[in-house]
Amino acid sequence: MKLRRNIKPLVLLHECGTTMLELVEGAIAKQELQVLRSYFRGLNSILKEDIDAINNGAPIIGTHFAFPAELFYCFDAVPICFETLSYLSSAVLTNGSEDFYDAASNFGIPYHACTSQKGVVGMTLKPDYFDVDAIAIPTAPCDNTIGMYQFFSEARNIPVIAADMPYRHNERGYKYYAQELRKMVDDLAKILHQEPDYDKLRKAVSYSSNSIKYQEEINNLRAATPCPLESMINPMGACVQNFFAGRPQKETFYKEVAELARDRVKKGVKAPGMEEEIRSYWPYMSIFFSIEFCEWMDRELNMSLVCDMFNHFFFEPIKENATVDEMFEGLAKQSMEYPMVRQSESFADVFLDDTLFLAKKFNVDCAVFTAHIGCKQSVSVIQILKEVLKDELGIPLLTIELDIGDKRLTSIETIKKRVREFKKTLL
Ligand code: SF4
Repeated sequence: MKLRRNIKPLVLLHECGTTMLELVEGAIAKQELQVLRSYFRGLNSILKEDIDAINNGAPIIGTHFAFPAELFYCFDAVPICFETLSYLSSAVLTNGSEDFYDAASNFGIPYHACTSQKGVVGMTLKPDYFDVDAIAIPTAPCDNTIGMYQFFSEARNIPVIAADMPYRHNERGYKYYAQELRKMVDDLAKILHQEPDYDKLRKAVSYSSNSIKYQEEINNLRAATPCPLESMINPMGACVQNFFAGRPQKETFYKEVAELARDRVKKGVKAPGMEEEIRSYWPYMSIFFSIEFCEWMDRELNMSLVCDMFNHFFFEPIKENATVDEMFEGLAKQSMEYPMVRQSESFADVFLDDTLFLAKKFNVDCAVFTAHIGCKQSVSVIQILKEVLKDELGIPLLTIELDIGDKRLTSIETIKKRVREFKKTLL
């Protein structure tokens, strides 16, 4: 197998992340932006390890946010989540992912397709910029996912393995999908010419399982008023969940955040600079293209973003002494109940029930829905979601039409204006 070695996005992100961390550690008081520090420490060390491993010959596996990346650690390989790579670039690079989106559009991808994969589509179209050796994805949660990965298979000639995710989310469905994951590992073994090492898989699963325990504690703690964590934990958490999966950095990140939240709740203190006049729940995604938006909400608007869809998990950790079969079944269940997959690959009542449950749990005053242009099926539930939140909890829902990864569709100034006006109606 001839390995592909173009990894410019990883190198660029590592350089940007290093500069960000130096700035935060060198120029900002220690009690400030602690979540951001933990995040960049973890991210930089993962990027460094990945770049070194690739330079030493490890193959690169492109994968999807809803796929349990722990599985890939049974090989000597580097998994890269395409959706996170697109949005990390939009958050961290000076010009965001716009060049990549434009390259994808010039190729023929419609402007209204989801930017979650479009960034990486554009990266692979730039000469000698980014390549992977194989791709493994689920057939969920949306047509967009399926359509975009076809591009990598047919236009870039990258082997793509798709694990068939069933529609029914029950024990029978989980078992079926576990078999699909096993088949995917077997297919990958043939492509990579490697034997799966299940002890390595167990180690990766254990880091993620320990993280789930901390995440559960964090979610109970941030139900407190005032919310003990900075709103920025939400876009960061969406990245950590899959980009850090199966790595010790994931456990360390959530351990540090849990300690921070525990300490603040115990002492009854808020996150520095945060005044919480209004608490909000975001039933879909946070905004990924602006790294400062959440700080603006906390420090200038005095409105906390307590939680979004990507930061609460409706699944359990996998037990320590699980057999190989049990690990596959546990990962299958986690993948099928992963945020966005759980709510999108099913009847709308799951989305409605989860939103009501979380808005109630976090005791919020309102909700804000990011109507992401690429996500046609989620936009179809907005009106009913609005009615359900009003009828059941008496809280209003603001809808903002935007692209969470492309600042040109709705600018951050316009988004701030909409949220500011909305807040005035709540006081
Ligand atoms: S945001 Fe919507 S369209 Fe994009 S990956 Fe998620 S479910 Fe698919």
